Amino acid sequence: MKNLYLLGATGSIGRQTLEIAETAPERFRIIALGADRDVEGMTELVRRHAPRYVAMNDAAAAATLAIRFPDIEVGSGKAGLNRLASLDQDDRDGLFVNAAVGIAGLEPTIAALKIGRDVALANKETLVVGGDIVMPLAREKGVRILPIDSEHSALWQCLEGERPESVLRLVITASGGAFRDKSRAELEHVGVADALAHPNWKMGKKITIDSATMMNKGFEVIEAMHLFAIPLGKIDTVLHRESYLHSLVEFVDGSMVAQISSHDMRLPISYALHHPDRVANPTERLDLAKIGKLTFAPIDSERYPCLGLAYAAARRGGNAPAALNAANEVAVALFLAGSIPFLTIETIVSTALEQLSFIAQPSLAELLATDAAVRDAVRGRYARQLL
Ligand code: MG
Repeated sequence: MKNLYLLGATGSIGRQTLEIAETAPERFRIIALGADRDVEGMTELVRRHAPRYVAMNDAAAAATLAIRFPDIEVGSGKAGLNRLASLDQDDRDGLFVNAAVGIAGLEPTIAALKIGRDVALANKETLVVGGDIVMPLAREKGVRILPIDSEHSALWQCLEGERPESVLRLVITASGGAFRDKSRAELEHVGVADALAHPNWKMGKKITIDSATMMNKGFEVIEAMHLFAIPLGKIDTVLHRESYLHSLVEFVDGSMVAQISSHDMRLPISYALHHPDRVANPTERLDLAKIGKLTFAPIDSERYPCLGLAYAAARRGGNAPAALNAANEVAVALFLAGSIPFLTIETIVSTALEQLSFIAQPSLAELLATDAAVRDAVRGRYARQLL
């Protein structure tokens, strides 16, 4: 029996994680659930899964839940989320599932690693911002970071049993997002609803916009670099409109090994939760003869400058990826609020990188300070649009 400590429970990945756990009640027990501020969503989940501990990032949300569920311990804010990740310190078989969205997911990952707990990771910021701190800590503690993302799960599956020296390069596929058929000129006038209409995947709003700008692919490149300890120069991307081939590894002998499956996050979730077992799950099966063909094309870097910005930030290292992430997160929020045009997202990110006070080997505190400073700077510059 594996105990699950799940952060980001009310979101898309969190709910699908619970669904996978429910299909194998003899294997998983839900011990703790955490979320940002969705009180009604969490109330429903607590009634269904009866966790022992609940954490809400938002203090008011935590207070409401504490009244509704007087018999359950309710934590709030940063301390509450960190307690969720490191609850029951002696539970060596426990798994912390981090499906939080945003920088709030970084410190709980560290809290889990510190007590030697494996982490199933869907939170991008953990590795994009904190990879240089998180991966050495995981190695020191001898714990595993199991990716929950279709691309990284694919790479993980392709790399199983292979030696590092056999790997020539990783190739991460990209669908191209909602605007893959639009020209740069057309992108000047696209709206929020257009951007949220992803051709292949149904996901949260933030990641859907990040797919349209290709920043999501940039984040995935940075994550892969940390997760698989592969130099940035050995990680490529390719446009693959159908999104069935989730990523591939090319080996030194010329073999390419790819992982192919439907567009369903429940598969990478199931793989991470059950690893090293493969267990039947309710995901859609592919009929390759019906699909007929898979297509591949180069990614136009002028069309998707955010991907180049992500590579540049990763190459620079230090606190540059933190600035990249923070600027992008505020920019996407501004776009979703209807405050800035779509193409201003990339302008905001590139300006933040140009104006960064660079730190080559930042501490966690310095990374969080960079995050806060960049957010303030972007919000300050676009304050008028927020009114
Ligand atoms: Mg992905």
